[in-house]
Amino acid sequence: MKNELKNQLRQQDAKALAQGYSPAIRAMDIASIVTFVGLESALVWRLWSGAHTGPWLVLCAVLLGYLAADFVSGVVHWMGDTWGSTEMPVLGKAFIRPFREHHVDEKAITRHDFAETNGNNCLVSIPVAILAVVLPHSSPGWVFVSTFLGAMIFWVMATNQFHKWSHMDEPPALIGFLQRVHLILPPAHHQIHHTAPYNKYYCITVGWMNKPLAMIGFFPAMERLITWATGLIPRKDDIGTEAALELFEATASAEPPVVQAAKELLEATTAEEPKPVSSARPS
Ligand SMILES: [Zn+2]
Ligand SMILES: [Zn+2]
Repeated sequence: MKNELKNQLRQQDAKALAQGYSPAIRAMDIASIVTFVGLESALVWRLWSGAHTGPWLVLCAVLLGYLAADFVSGVVHWMGDTWGSTEMPVLGKAFIRPFREHHVDEKAITRHDFAETNGNNCLVSIPVAILAVVLPHSSPGWVFVSTFLGAMIFWVMATNQFHKWSHMDEPPALIGFLQRVHLILPPAHHQIHHTAPYNKYYCITVGWMNKPLAMIGFFPAMERLITWATGLIPRKDDIGTEAALELFEATASAEPPVVQAAKELLEATTAEEPKPVSSARPS
């Protein structure tokens, strides 16, 4: 009986997987990866033979690209987690469902192979890759912009891979080391996001942007702005209207940590100086 149930579960799982990941989507994933690698190689070749390419320029562009990709990963992830419904046409199934499912089954991503993990991000990066390749390389400024864009989408491409590794029980040794020194997304850091109500630490490339964005209350502010402009309630589809409203009111009334810290600092400096302790001691 137990075995029967186990087999049934496995069958359902495989069926769902087959439905969600058709041969056509797989072919598109592989084509996207090949196109992306081709464009990035063309860019590297252009930079390699360019007159304005220098090591510092490349290093700065690659670092800035890493921060930008981390930020972009946070914004896209926040949108998928927070807005819209899985029932929406096209977007719902292709874009929103994977984000919602990831909270329910966070290990599913570890069962995806290279093409399934990285195909999507390669596809969305192709327009930017084309732009980076065709930009003029006539001055150091243009070379910087082109290198920055090329680096940013390289890290965007790497994001799902880093995210997948952060959910693996035993990642390869080198990956484990890079996670421990926080050069790629560390599992413990990412688990802060995987704690209900899943409303912070959205950045999943390396996570360096998570703390600064949380300090300034970036995502709660964006949610208030969108609710003010459209009347939509964040996470309504995901956790239900009542819970979503309660959470929205709680975050709306909370001040960003940076404001709290500034107030505490101001209070500490303006507070009355403690009276000096009398130096007279009984002798
Ligand atoms: Zn999420
Ligand atoms: Zn995750």
